[in-house]
Amino acid sequence: MGRIVQKFGGTSVGSVERIQNVAKRIIHEVDAGNEVVVVVSAMGKTTDELVKLATEISGNPSKREMDMLLTTGEQITIALLTMALHQEGYKAQSLTGWQAGIQTEDAFSNARILDIDSKRISSLLEEGHIVVVAGFQGLIPETKDIATLGRGGSDTTAVALAAALKAERCDIYTDVTGVYTTDPRVVNSARKLPSISYDEMLEMANLGAGVLHPRAVEFAKNYNITLEVRSSMSEERGTLVEEEVSMEQNLMVRGLAFEGNITKITVSSVPNEMHALAELFTILASNGINVDIIIQNVLNEEKTNISFSIESNSLSATQEVLAAHQGKLGFESISYEQGLAKVSIVGSGMISNPGVAAKMFKALSDEEIMIKMVSTSEIKVSTVVKQEDMIKSIETLHDVFELDARVPVQNT
Ligand code: ADP
Ligand code: ASP
Ligand code: MG
Repeated sequence: MGRIVQKFGGTSVGSVERIQNVAKRIIHEVDAGNEVVVVVSAMGKTTDELVKLATEISGNPSKREMDMLLTTGEQITIALLTMALHQEGYKAQSLTGWQAGIQTEDAFSNARILDIDSKRISSLLEEGHIVVVAGFQGLIPETKDIATLGRGGSDTTAVALAAALKAERCDIYTDVTGVYTTDPRVVNSARKLPSISYDEMLEMANLGAGVLHPRAVEFAKNYNITLEVRSSMSEERGTLVEEEVSMEQNLMVRGLAFEGNITKITVSSVPNEMHALAELFTILASNGINVDIIIQNVLNEEKTNISFSIESNSLSATQEVLAAHQGKLGFESISYEQGLAKVSIVGSGMISNPGVAAKMFKALSDEEIMIKMVSTSEIKVSTVVKQEDMIKSIETLHDVFELDARVPVQNT
């Protein structure tokens, strides 16, 4: 008998029929002799609708109240799914995040899970219950306030519970049949990957592939939990996210990720002094501004330009912070370019293959796509391009790196 965690995303529980379908998938595992903990998201687009309601009331709603509001979505699903399980004649109980013992740091809207006290879940399992836990939420122990884990955070609830409960498996059921070479809703020829390593998946998730929450992949890597990403609507096997990828070893590029809504800021004529960079980025960080790619362009011995990319929705905050510190930082002016996007290639085989970045830049320039910024790590290359060139860039790179054509190499 094994202990397993199953997570079902919003689309998978988007209607009464789908909740009943999910109940059947859970029962299938219970009948096979497993102890099952289920994590669910809010139904369909509920979270988006709740966000919209809040913005109709306030342009800048309190983060505490926002979390209070958004956590109601998951609470609806746990109750309905548990009723569906009862209806099928099974013992089941629903738990909110705090009832399940999920403790978070003291931060609203994007809190990290710090600890899980899994006693209540364990005793329910021992009594023969299926335990249905609300994803995306936890409790701040000091204040007893409810906090959310960031959009897409139900994946993280599931993997963290799998770690705490020493589960044998963690299955992530979603609305696609696995992790693809890139978003299959954007590129028709995207191909499902049989497996992907933690490090590659972490890069993909951090670079915009919304199929898994980045922190879920971090937990899986840290606790060595194999995830299977698969569809709740079909029996097809999904993608394994695991330490060692047995097939298709050493691929130069395993996948592509992309995200829009990026703005490039240029701070011009900053004094070219030892502490200038440290000062600028300390001020931005202490004001909660998340900076991604940074480029320094030294003009002469006295002056340097510094460019960096941010999410477009932090543009006005960034401008305000920089303007307030212009005297201290000593720059001449600020300019910005909106409407940009980041397109990235990811693959662990890049480490040993020089020329991958060159191949990427050549492919984009052949299509007359202007690259505005670049950043690299051992297993990824990211380029910033105009948002209007984003889809063409991905399609081009998908072709150039032959991501659709590759026949998996079978182990012998
Ligand atoms: P859920 O509600 O089940 O958590 P999400 O919408 O969060 O579902 O994630 C699934 C979606 O992720 C897919 O519908 C797909 O559009 C998107 N996606 C982005 N990149 C990828 C990728 N590389 N492989 C598969 N899906 C991807
Ligand atoms: N319901 C939350 C969201 O839409 C959490 C999740 O689905 O993972 O972001
Ligand atoms: Mg999701």
